[in-house]
Amino acid sequence: MEPMFSPPLHRQRHQFVIDFVKRNKTKKVVDLGCSECSLLQKLKFHREIELLVGVDIRGAIVKKKMHGLAPVSTDYLQPSYDQLRVELYQGSVTQKDARLRGFDLVTSIELIEHLTLADVERFSEVVFGYMSPGAVIVSTPNSEFNPLLPGLSGFRHSDHKFEWTRAEFKSWALKVCLEYGYEVEFTGVGQAPPGQQERVGFCSQIGVFQRLGGSESCSMLFGDDAEDVFSYTLLYSVNYPSLHDNNILRRVLVSEVLYWAEKLKSRWMEERTGESQRQAEDGEECFGASERHMEMGEKQTACGSEVKTPVEQWDRGVPGQQEGEEQQVFWRNGLGRQESCRSRRCVSVPLAVLWSCCPKVNALSGSLSNLRHFLMDDPKVRLSQDGSAVLLNVQEQDAEEEEDHDVVEDSGYAEASRCSHSAEPEEDWEANV
Ligand code: SAH
Repeated sequence: MEPMFSPPLHRQRHQFVIDFVKRNKTKKVVDLGCSECSLLQKLKFHREIELLVGVDIRGAIVKKKMHGLAPVSTDYLQPSYDQLRVELYQGSVTQKDARLRGFDLVTSIELIEHLTLADVERFSEVVFGYMSPGAVIVSTPNSEFNPLLPGLSGFRHSDHKFEWTRAEFKSWALKVCLEYGYEVEFTGVGQAPPGQQERVGFCSQIGVFQRLGGSESCSMLFGDDAEDVFSYTLLYSVNYPSLHDNNILRRVLVSEVLYWAEKLKSRWMEERTGESQRQAEDGEECFGASERHMEMGEKQTACGSEVKTPVEQWDRGVPGQQEGEEQQVFWRNGLGRQESCRSRRCVSVPLAVLWSCCPKVNALSGSLSNLRHFLMDDPKVRLSQDGSAVLLNVQEQDAEEEEDHDVVEDSGYAEASRCSHSAEPEEDWEANV
């Protein structure tokens, strides 16, 4: 049989919430009756959200797919400044929990019809009276649409305690508004066939409630007499990596610095080899016999921009020096500062060069002194004594590359197993249409 709605009804309901979040730049969202977290799964990609919470009375159903909400490896490898925390609770919407206060949006998608009418009263008091969010989206079946649903007799789901007409939903919603200080607009998803929309309405009816009086009325509610009740059980929580976290910022910065420092070093070495060959061909003296000078100015950086600041290198090795013997290699930036490394052969890349020619290093650190500060205590970075340059071994490129590879593999950020989240249709009848 052809599906009755395209996209499927459960997806249209979730899309309705996503559109609301996008329009209103909602930061804190709680989904009541979140079931297998399929709405939360979609919402986590909307990074204006900073706190995403799910609640369901059935802990087992939440646990089934909750690990799909974990950050994946790209969230760790390419973190942004966005902040996201996810929390999942087992608990009933008929009970208060102080952790659910102060949200911008509460969603209750196809939930209230699973409650007895007495519990709907408690739900109203908990959600509108106690949690008191800026907005509430409530969706519930519209019973006037039922005669159009093929093969349906009775309620749409065996667990439904009632299914309301538009008038019944409206009467409950207006009472809630009056009692708790909200206004409501009625809409829905799942269009009726042409010509019947007005008579039967939407398949899922939706009330969008907005708290009157904006944020002030909210702060009044959270005054001294706020009850600190914690009746829900925390099942899962995770913070997404964010560049606001200094440890994460340092990790990203260090790998960026090492990447560009290696790149600059390789480029310099390639050019140096080419120059030596040319000199050998021309019958000139090779390696370090005399003071030489390499300009990196006006070259395309790997970052894609032109390097305007010349970077110079002096090689003052002893003529005929053997591989592995102590050698001094200098880089010097346009300000005339000069660095050297006196271990086995190594190259010194000034932080000023990295900072000025690598836009990401520049953006992440903000200033040269911040950059130095971030790199100072990091075990992966070898800085010159005065902290003005990164030191890299000349010989060990291959070994370092292998090491880098290991770092990625052993970083501990194994991609969380992402189960597929085919949102299962909630209603019995939806499975058959
Ligand atoms: N909102 C989900 C699924 C709705 S099905 C979706 O959009 O797909 C209704 C859900 O409400 C079920 O997962 C059920 O376990 C949960 N539920 C029923 N009574 C509840 C209560 N008193 N408190 C919290 N959740 C409840």
